[in-house]
Amino acid sequence: MEEVDLGEEVVLLLIVDGMSYSTLEASNTPMMDYLHRKGAMLTNCVVEAIPTISRSAHATIATGAPVEVHGIYGNKYYERKNGKLIGFGPKHLRAETIAEVAEREGLNVSVLGNKGLGLSDITQEMHTPGDEGGAKAIRILGKGASVIRVSDNTEVLEEARKQILEKIRKREPISHKQYVELDNVLAELVVETLDTEQPDLLMATFFGVDKASHGYGPTSREAIFTMENFDRILRRILLHLEEKRTKVSVIVTADHGNTEVNNYIDIVSLGREIDGVEEIITEGRRSARVYLEDDADREFVKDELLRIRGVRDVVDVYWDSEKVGDLMVFPGYSSTFGVGLITTRRSCHGSPAPSDSVVPLLYYVPRMKFEKYVIVRQVDISPTISSMIGVSPPKDSVGRSLFSPFR
Ligand SMILES: [Zn+2]
Repeated sequence: MEEVDLGEEVVLLLIVDGMSYSTLEASNTPMMDYLHRKGAMLTNCVVEAIPTISRSAHATIATGAPVEVHGIYGNKYYERKNGKLIGFGPKHLRAETIAEVAEREGLNVSVLGNKGLGLSDITQEMHTPGDEGGAKAIRILGKGASVIRVSDNTEVLEEARKQILEKIRKREPISHKQYVELDNVLAELVVETLDTEQPDLLMATFFGVDKASHGYGPTSREAIFTMENFDRILRRILLHLEEKRTKVSVIVTADHGNTEVNNYIDIVSLGREIDGVEEIITEGRRSARVYLEDDADREFVKDELLRIRGVRDVVDVYWDSEKVGDLMVFPGYSSTFGVGLITTRRSCHGSPAPSDSVVPLLYYVPRMKFEKYVIVRQVDISPTISSMIGVSPPKDSVGRSLFSPFR
């Protein structure tokens, strides 16, 4: 076999969707432990964009900008003029991304993910019309990259879809094994892309842990199984690069956490009954946006919302309320706004609570020496990657690199 000469170094950003500390700590992850012993740092990453949800977090990771600057406020919004739900996508992104900067500097960026199962309408996993599951988050993360691949239409995906539909029909729980299999499909796509595209920067989001956590809880057997499978995926990718003698630096983190829930609040039905509420939509099931009618008594609505059992906070939103609404509502610690779903949720996210907003971040940069241990903000990821690949940070980023440039 001919020796393939890959780029001298690749930077990997691997996002484990919805990986919470509780899942990681309950799991046996020998590859991450090995990296830890070899000098990797495991620290906390603070997700500041509220709601703590995939698309806004992926935009924050891509741009290093605050949510009001990059414009991806969450997964979706309610369009008042025609009463429609609109999913946030790359066209709403207003800030420069790391992929745009890197490509402009002549580097190759590949961004990979899964499309999801395309079952949104049936499972009401998302209420967004025309939703593509994880694909929108990937297209936001990868805006400007020369290679964006969303694994789709594979046999595995079709088979998983069929099996899941069958289970929904029989009202049986969906097997987490489907999600593990989709993560594995993505892992193969990562390995293939490393060979064919030889990227300087590769970013990929694995959504299995998030789905397993939603379905079974963040410390469930199923979530742990999916987490441990990701650790094997990490090993597979790093061994592949070692065989090719490609140097690698890697950051592993989550877009948001997950909170185990046992109290279900039907915020949408209850909220719509309050005088002055035009519409109320949930985001990530642990936050909700309230759109007020023009003549609404704001204080009255807030009082009524706070009266709902299980509601912890109601906060005013005064910017871009055309999109993000006038109020945000958050549930108490173990509560969720997710009700009436065919698939019951054991775990949700979206709130500012630490279980949703503080996630693990492991960084392994073997040729760097770290002087101090820091807690990372999600806005720091993009400037950190910039310094790792030797480009300036995206224009609107407000974070700072974990270390100085080494090229
Ligand atoms: Zn997510």
